[in-house]
Amino acid sequence: MTLFDNPAFEGHEGVHSFYDEPTGLKCIIAVHSTARGPAGGGCRMWPYPDAEAALTDALRLSRAMSYKNAMADIDLGGGKSVIIGDSRTQKTPALFEVFGRCVEALGGRYWGAEDVGVTPQDLAHARTQSRYIVGLDGHPAASGDPSPVTADGVFRGLRLCVQRALGRDLDGITVAIQGVGNVGRHLADRLHAAGAKLVVTDVNEAAVADVVARTGAKAVAPGAIFDAEAEVFAPCALGGAITAETLPRLSAKVIAGGANNQLADADVGRAVFARGMIYAPDYVLNGGGIINVAGEIRALEAGGLFDPSWVEGKITQMTATLAEVLDRSAAEARPTNEVADQIARARLAAAKQARQAAA
Ligand code: NAD
Repeated sequence: MTLFDNPAFEGHEGVHSFYDEPTGLKCIIAVHSTARGPAGGGCRMWPYPDAEAALTDALRLSRAMSYKNAMADIDLGGGKSVIIGDSRTQKTPALFEVFGRCVEALGGRYWGAEDVGVTPQDLAHARTQSRYIVGLDGHPAASGDPSPVTADGVFRGLRLCVQRALGRDLDGITVAIQGVGNVGRHLADRLHAAGAKLVVTDVNEAAVADVVARTGAKAVAPGAIFDAEAEVFAPCALGGAITAETLPRLSAKVIAGGANNQLADADVGRAVFARGMIYAPDYVLNGGGIINVAGEIRALEAGGLFDPSWVEGKITQMTATLAEVLDRSAAEARPTNEVADQIARARLAAAKQARQAAA
């Protein structure tokens, strides 16, 4: 398969691959769209089986960032970077410095932040080589770790979906969380504080033990999370959790979590709708982190301070956009993911048109 035949290609403006022999860095930076502004999206480090798997992941995630940023109504296009490697054994400061130089080479077409397998400490090494690395601490414009803000947006949207599906608040509701990493554990804390009961899983046993100790959650094996009795299923691990095989096992009335690309394909989205469940489209729900990062970019560009009240306003607006998606889904009897895609595409097309008109 060539790049242009890849089903995930979908009109990407640029796809850049980099290799550095001394550090072993192999990375792909995908820029889907700069119609709304420079492409913004996280950097993921993952032991992909081959370059094609890495490319497909970069393309799918990058396009999702265009949609996410459009739905969050921030002045960023969509992009994503992936580093091929095992984040537990193959990270070095030098590798992230070279990654920083790769980002710098794109001259501001892409701004990189944290994603799965990459920490703010890693990004601090990249930042020494590029001003287009964000989501850091230690300077006046810095926005810090985006994960708690992502979890905050997911929490608010999840609560809205529960109110719509069950006509009640979170107190006494059971939520099954798949993956208690950066986003999942913060979400668990928020849900626990709101009186929800939790069932959790993770392939990382220490992460599970930590959340169980703090929240009294019930722990189950990774494969058993789909069979947990729960009103809400919250995917917070990697993509593709909802498949034709896993969907019939869910007892939940709501699917709402932080993971990107939760639906294996569009057919699954239709099946979720046909079962009468509410699915909060992932990229409408999990935009809190990129909103936080956009706040940092905004402050850097203006030479000013990070403004948490701007972030708060955008997250409130994002939850209102989710409400609009749920309303239209109900009124038009269409799956939420199709409604969200339609709104996102319209916003992107309008930005493209405005850019062409201004050129
Ligand atoms: P993370 O790596 O900190 O957490 C993911 C967790 O999922 C890890 O603890 C991992 O062990 C676990 N996991 C992986 N495969 C699993 C499986 N099969 N079963 C159970 N657990 C499994 O990453 P994160 O930053 O928390 O991100 C989680 C998801 O949210 C990702 O899809 C990411 O792209 C998305 N996301 C994150 C942010 C953010 O601000 N961090 C923003 C938007 C979207």
